[in-house]
Amino acid sequence: MITAVIEDTDDKSMVAFTDGSCRGNPGPCGSGAFVLLPYGETVELKQPVSKHSSILVGELVAIKITLVLVTEEIKKRQIQKVKILSDSQSAVGILSLGWENNSHPHLCSEIRQLWRQVEETGCKIDLQWTPGHANIHGNDKADALAKEAAKEAEDMEAEEFDQPTSQTEIRAAASLATCDKWQRRWEISESGRTLFQYQPKVNRNKVNFDGLPHQRSILALQSGYCLKDYNYKVGLTDCPYCECGSRETVEHFYCECPLYTSAREKAKKEMFLLTGIPVFSEKPFLTIDENDPYKEWRRAINNELNDFIEATKRFGTRGPRKFLA
Ligand SMILES: [Zn+2]
Repeated sequence: MITAVIEDTDDKSMVAFTDGSCRGNPGPCGSGAFVLLPYGETVELKQPVSKHSSILVGELVAIKITLVLVTEEIKKRQIQKVKILSDSQSAVGILSLGWENNSHPHLCSEIRQLWRQVEETGCKIDLQWTPGHANIHGNDKADALAKEAAKEAEDMEAEEFDQPTSQTEIRAAASLATCDKWQRRWEISESGRTLFQYQPKVNRNKVNFDGLPHQRSILALQSGYCLKDYNYKVGLTDCPYCECGSRETVEHFYCECPLYTSAREKAKKEMFLLTGIPVFSEKPFLTIDENDPYKEWRRAINNELNDFIEATKRFGTRGPRKFLA
């Protein structure tokens, strides 16, 4: 892949590898980018981001500082094409595939603004995903730079980080501070905990109910609700068996039942593309606590899971949610 990238480079194009790093997620966070300029010149960029950010922020800031460099380079020479290789599927999804993301509106809009600024000069930006830690030299460089930046972030005082300056940025920062307060209240509140599992981030404009019907199906299945083994145990049915003859447990439904093999194969493939997890296990679907290792892919995984549930036709057209009060 790297060979293809280099062959693709000429005297009017740039290639950048970007990476974010967090010492804990969230934790002290940094961004790095390794950039190949025309004529074999290289630039190393790194930036400590904050004392307490998620890895996604690090990945996004890495793309932002790369675009800032591109806007500077464009003033000096003609650049027709910039290829940015990020190892974050979320960052690529949000910025170039239109994935929904409500958590970093300010940062994303800054990036989009830079992006437009670059493309208005006629330079084309191509943001692509590249596998992390795959011995790709540029990627390893970016990774090392991001790690250094995260280490620096850990040692810095809060006021040393980039402060917003323009009126717009101050307004955005103020609004985010209000949002932070609201966020903390939402996190410690005792009510609305079911919704909280699916909507852990408050949204300044509105609470986002998108996808919630899916989430209810998933929630229903997480508890075994609507499956015969559960219904048998609570006395709703006198048969715990699936049509295939095995006990219809959550694990059976997701991972074993031969009736849903083709739906499962398709979901398996999609899941692997999204997360790199090679097995279709009930685990990614059943974990919704704070230590969710699949957090970054949660929305995508849930969409995948919903497609799987629909494809099995196990619950008719209205899905298992009809069983919920
Ligand atoms: Zn079965």
